Amino acid sequence: MTKGNFPVEKLKGIETPFYYYDTDLLKKTLKIVKEGTKKYGYIQHYAVKANANRRILELIASEGFGADCVSGNEVKAAITAGFPASKIVFAGVGKTDKEINLALDLNIFCFNVESMPELIVINELAAKKGKTAQVALRINPNVDAHTHEYITTGLNENKFGFSMAHLDNVTEVLKSLKNIKLIGIHFHIGSQIEDIHTFSPLCEKVNELQDYFEGKGIKLENINLGGGLGVDYDDPDAHPMPDFQGYFDLFNKGLKQREGQTVHFELGRSIVAQCGVLVTKVSYVKHGESKTFVIVDAGMTDLIRPALYQAYHKVENISSDLPVQKYDIVGPICESSDVFVKDYELNETKRGDILVLRSAGAYGEIMASQYNCRDLPKPYFSDKI
Ligand SMILES: *Cc1c(COP(=O)(O)O)cnc(C)c1O
Repeated sequence: MTKGNFPVEKLKGIETPFYYYDTDLLKKTLKIVKEGTKKYGYIQHYAVKANANRRILELIASEGFGADCVSGNEVKAAITAGFPASKIVFAGVGKTDKEINLALDLNIFCFNVESMPELIVINELAAKKGKTAQVALRINPNVDAHTHEYITTGLNENKFGFSMAHLDNVTEVLKSLKNIKLIGIHFHIGSQIEDIHTFSPLCEKVNELQDYFEGKGIKLENINLGGGLGVDYDDPDAHPMPDFQGYFDLFNKGLKQREGQTVHFELGRSIVAQCGVLVTKVSYVKHGESKTFVIVDAGMTDLIRPALYQAYHKVENISSDLPVQKYDIVGPICESSDVFVKDYELNETKRGDILVLRSAGAYGEIMASQYNCRDLPKPYFSDKI
């Protein structure tokens, strides 16, 4: 059984729970993404919400990526970490006036607009500043991402984006919005999409929509396809990276990209998930009636994905090589959903052992909370411990 490449002795000396990031893997991943996008002239905006750790953002910014933000504070964090405003896109169904004003003041590249009332507000606020806001319409393509219902976003009943049925009206209204410049269309159909062929119907929808806009005399300079590429939570050692090349190739084949048009992506999870792990210490091994519980010092406050989406994270006991036993691995939080995994085979475990929860770099640290007045988990980096 592989334990990955963990510096066990060093990790043992750090107060648990904490996040540990493999910066080499992150850099390798960024390099592959860069090669994939460069091949076709695509632009990648890292989805900040997956992990907004300052150092992670700085590393990604330093490789020349843009940023995809979903709040004003994410826009600020991106700028602070070195992303140029000219490469920042800003999505979200509920942008507040304050957030829109901030983004206008910073001259971000594009607002990914999700509704008619939002378009009208952006137009008004831009007019007050004597500016023109560049916008892309987020369109809900009604494509099934075949993923968990909480992380699918591209179906008609979702709250995100314009439905295609309303586009006639939108293009009409846009003519009267003098402080808005339509520069493209935007999509994001969901997250943790494991089969890249799920993106094929998206390509077809985009092609149809391009024809539709051209029929209206509207030239789209930018097509933004969002993120959503999944990672292998079951076997992170076999697949430390998803098939980025296959993913970009699929779009290159499927999309009818127009002359002079730029294609954008907003990958989040697939860039940062595998480089992060949550490190935790076993507080108690408790024998129940029919089960044995491994109670660790990390909980849903440190990594909420299992409690929130029934997500699976591979767990390894890096302190034990003993034969495996079956355990429920649970946290200390006073909630029944504070369970990482049930009936799980782990090397025989005792109090004080160190466990790592793998593939926790995306939607991990950033979703941590202080419920139960707990401390937030600290981040550590492989090249700085
Ligand atoms: C969350 C999100 C992303 C990133 O999704 P991943 O599954 O992490 O790649 C991209 N674009 C938008 C608009 C998002 O909301």
